[in-house]
Amino acid sequence: MTANILVVEDEHPIQELLAFNIAQCGYCAIKAYDTIEAWAHIKQALPDLILLDWMLPGGNGVELTRQLRADQRTRNIPIIMLTARTDERDKILGLESGADDYITKPFSPRELMARIRSVLRRRAPQMSDEAVSAGGLELSPAMHRVSANGAIIDLGPTEFRLLHFFITHPERVYSRSQLLDQVWGDHVFVEERTVDVHIRRLRQALESSATDRLIQTVRGSGYRFSCA
Ligand code: CA
Repeated sequence: MTANILVVEDEHPIQELLAFNIAQCGYCAIKAYDTIEAWAHIKQALPDLILLDWMLPGGNGVELTRQLRADQRTRNIPIIMLTARTDERDKILGLESGADDYITKPFSPRELMARIRSVLRRRAPQMSDEAVSAGGLELSPAMHRVSANGAIIDLGPTEFRLLHFFITHPERVYSRSQLLDQVWGDHVFVEERTVDVHIRRLRQALESSATDRLIQTVRGSGYRFSCA
C-alpha cells in the first residue's frame, strides 16, 4: 500500500524538491501551498503523513497541527514539521502542538526520508512492507500474499488492505467511517455499507481456515480484529 504524503509548503522550489524525493521513495506526494488547500485535501481523503511547513500564508503550521489534533477524524495523522527556525523554543512549541517529528531547513533529503519512514513505521504500521502475523494468519505486503495456517488465501486488493490494517491494529474497535478513512483513505465518496461488503468477502475468504472468527462485529460500533 503506497503511503500518501501531503506536503504543505508555500515555497515552490522546496515543494518540488520534497515531491521529487517522496516519489523516489515510492510514496505519493500531494501538494498544498497553504492551510486552506491542505484542509481541502484532508476533507477529501486522509493522508498517511503530513509534511508541514511552519511559516505558511493564511495560518502557520503550529495552528494547523493543533486543529488536526483536536479533530477526532484527523488526530492520528502523523505530522513532521518543516521549518527554517532553529530556535529551541520553537522546536518545543512544534512538538507540544502535536507534531511527531521536526526537521530544520536546510535539510538533507536522505535524512528527511529516513524520518518519514520511521514516523510511518511507528504511527502507521499498515504502510510498512514488513510481514505481519496473528492468529494463524500471515500477511506479506511485499509479496502481496496471505496464508492461514500455512494455506494460501486468495484476497482481493481491498480485503488485503483491510486484513493488513486489522492485523496491525488488533483488539481495538473501529467504526465503519474510521475504517473508510484508514483503509480506503476516503471518507467522502464511499458509502459506509461498502465496508460491510468487504468485511463479508474477507470473512468468506477466511472461512475455510476458520480464521474468519478473528474478524468480530461489535454491535452498534463497528469491527474488531481479535485473537483473544
Ligand atoms: Ca514557508
